[in-house]
Amino acid sequence: MSKLHIFVCCVVGLVVMSLSSSSQAYTRSKGSEYNVELYWKKLPVEYYIQKDGDGRLAEGIFSPHIQTSFNHWATPSCGCFQVKFLGLTSSREIGYNQDNPESDINLVLFQTESWRHDRNAVAVTSTVYSQRSGEIIAFDMEINAVRFTFSGDGQPVQGRSTVDLQNTITHEAGHVAGLDHSSATQATMFASAPPGETSKRSLHVDDIDGVCAIYQKNGAQQCTIAGSENAQGCSCTTHTPSPNKHVALMFFALFFAFIGFQRLLPRQR
Ligand SMILES: [Zn+2]
Repeated sequence: MSKLHIFVCCVVGLVVMSLSSSSQAYTRSKGSEYNVELYWKKLPVEYYIQKDGDGRLAEGIFSPHIQTSFNHWATPSCGCFQVKFLGLTSSREIGYNQDNPESDINLVLFQTESWRHDRNAVAVTSTVYSQRSGEIIAFDMEINAVRFTFSGDGQPVQGRSTVDLQNTITHEAGHVAGLDHSSATQATMFASAPPGETSKRSLHVDDIDGVCAIYQKNGAQQCTIAGSENAQGCSCTTHTPSPNKHVALMFFALFFAFIGFQRLLPRQR
């Protein structure tokens, strides 16, 4: 049985202020029911981009930036993670179609009218996975264009601070691959990002270690996916939205705190 999962974070009840920047600080995303580590078995991970963007960035800008961000995770020579951009779509359907899984698409879209997640979240990535095996079978990535202004270079627009699109999407694409937040402050998978930041556009060594730990290339053609040996016999065809969601958040905060049981909220400084 699969379950809609909107990410796990890993720190409870403390403020992270001084964190290691050493390697191997990456963390794999885990399922909420059986603590299984998440991964894709079916590669490449295919996705569409909703064609309307946020109305302020031309398709010729936002689409290449999004594709570049995804491609970073397929680039490390130690890894075999793969992604495939299938084109622009007019669809705005998010969520998983459990009645007709074949029609379900993985979608990246800008939300411009309303935002149902935490208002401080720049983007949220939702993945659908098998609770038993951890195999991810679908994802959607929503970008918060209701509150934030995105740019292709992170520079202010008309005096307003902006969010660098690649900086955001590269981080979120790490969640798509199966990574949780890293404790390495310089890692792309670190949980927060100040306005105008562009350093998360590309991968830090910790991010590369993380994606290669899941999708390890062995020789020219061999790909070992950590955890996939558990996938046999699981059903990945049903989906139950969780009322007690974990939330993948990329915050405009230098520090963050975990407040409550499964809720990550920002502390603005
Ligand atoms: Zn995140």
